[in-house]
Parts: sequence; structure tokens; C-alpha cells
Amino acid sequence: MRKLGFAAFIVALSVLLLSACGSANSPPPKAKDGKLKIVTTYSVIYDIVKNVGGDAVEVESLAPIGSDPHQYDPLPADVQKTTDADVVFYNGLNLETGGAWFANMIETAGKGGKDAPVFKISEGVEPMYLKSGGHEGEEDPHAWLAVSNGIKYAENVKEALIKVDPDRKEIYEKNAADYIAQLEKLHEDITKKMNEIPKEKRLLVSSEGAFKYFSAAYGFEAHYIWEINSHKEGTPEQLKAIVDFIREHDIKALFVETSVDPRSMETVSKETGVPIIGKIFTDSIGKPGTDGDTYIKMIEWNANIIHKGLTENQKL
Ligand SMILES: [Zn+2]
Repeated sequence: MRKLGFAAFIVALSVLLLSACGSANSPPPKAKDGKLKIVTTYSVIYDIVKNVGGDAVEVESLAPIGSDPHQYDPLPADVQKTTDADVVFYNGLNLETGGAWFANMIETAGKGGKDAPVFKISEGVEPMYLKSGGHEGEEDPHAWLAVSNGIKYAENVKEALIKVDPDRKEIYEKNAADYIAQLEKLHEDITKKMNEIPKEKRLLVSSEGAFKYFSAAYGFEAHYIWEINSHKEGTPEQLKAIVDFIREHDIKALFVETSVDPRSMETVSKETGVPIIGKIFTDSIGKPGTDGDTYIKMIEWNANIIHKGLTENQKL
């Protein structure tokens, strides 16, 4: 009798453990209104996810709009949001590696497991590589500045959302198809616009070297003060190198990103007498209700300001 009692206890315990495991593996609870709760590391992919997820999702960007996502310092509230999220999207390609902030946060938030709903949005993008500043051979993160990669991002978001929330597959497929059609049109439009700039004038000077993928896609040559946002931004050596380059070449326009400290480019402008034509969006969209407040609008803004800076300002 006693033996049987012990066996029953073991069976009961196993059932208890199994059901506990079962609930740990079942999909995480959705927000009260049935929407999937999603966090993204920064605002560019926040906007892409919003478009593909539509009304079925509630999205939040951890690095606030306008800030530099390379070296973001997550708040305790961000860790909590990540723990509570049904899905997490990050760029990858060496974007969120400054201070290893994303990897550390994911661990702390309890989403470090290999089956955790954490998705690299740049999956399948052909990476380009950094060439200087001790970062040689590391991946360059700024793939989204070529719209063909933005399309890949949207496809990856669709696949991830369907995986986590298969009941709403049709909604995600429809939203993605509509959005990708807009991105294809955008790619065509800006290709046309960039082709209006004579090939020899397609020299782009920005603070950070964020335009590698853009340049490869639209036939530009990109120059910069520093190659990637890090603790070394605008050193005297970096400033001297770009000032020398500008003096030796026919550069008529400089551009400064909305998500970097503009002082370095202002120094370059003062030193060379070449004007800063305007702001340009790289690592962040614009704040809601202002210029460039979506991925599509930021790319359009960039194409317009680059076109203006490299044509109107100089003899063709
Ligand atoms: Zn950047």
C-alpha cells in the first residue's frame, strides 16, 4: 500500500511538472485587447513593424525616436517591456552591439533562450563590412538605407508575426503585400531621382559612414567623418582626413544626420567653407508629426535633400 502511495505521488508530481512545462512553452499572453505586444530596438524597424502588423499589434521602440541606437543604454523599464513582449525585433548586423546593450538586456529580460520570440529583422541581407577605426571586418548595420533591404525587413517581419500568431496570417500577409508595394514604388522613384544627378557629382559626405548600402544601391560614393557611431566620433585625425578630402575634391554640399551630434560637421563646414545643406535621416525616423516620421518619408526626405544639395547648388 505504502509503495503504491509513493508511486501515485510520483505520477502526480510528473503530471504537475509536465503541465508546468506545457504552460511555459505555450505562446505568451497577448495584450488585453488581443493585440500582440512588440518591442523593437529602434525607430526605423518600429515603423516597418507597425506597417506590417497594423491593428493587430502594439509596437514600442526601445531607443527613443531621434536617438542613436548603436550605444543605447536601456532603462529598467525597457527590460520589463522586453520581458512582457510577445515578440522582439532587432536589426542585427552589428547595430545594437555598442556596450553589448541588446545582448545583455535580452538575457536580463529572460528572452535569451533559442526558442524565444526574438527576431533579427535583417536576416537574409547581404552584409557589407566596416573598413576602419578598429572595426575592420565587422558588419555595417545600415542596410535599411537601401530600400531593397527594407523590403526584406518587411518580409521578415511578416514571417515572424505569422510564426508567433498564425491565427492572423491573412492579416499580416495583406498588410505586408500592401506595404511592400509602396516600398517597391519608393525604390523606383528614388532610383529615378538619383539617376538625375550626374554620376561624377554623386559624392555624399555625412558624419557617420551610414551610406554604404545606399551608395551601392543608387550609384554613390560615400565619405564620412567617422565610419560608425562609437566612442570615437569626430577626433582631430578624423576631422583632418575629411577636411583634406573635401579640399581635394569638388564637394559643394555636406549633410548632417538627425541622430548625431552636429558639431563635428559644423566644424568641417567652417574649416572648408562648404555648407551643410540640411538634415538627413539615418539611424532614426523623425518625431511624429515632423519631417521624415516614417521609414518611407525618411527615405524620400533623404533623396530630396541629396538631389537638391548635389544639383541646385552647383553647375551641372
Ligand atoms: Zn548608424
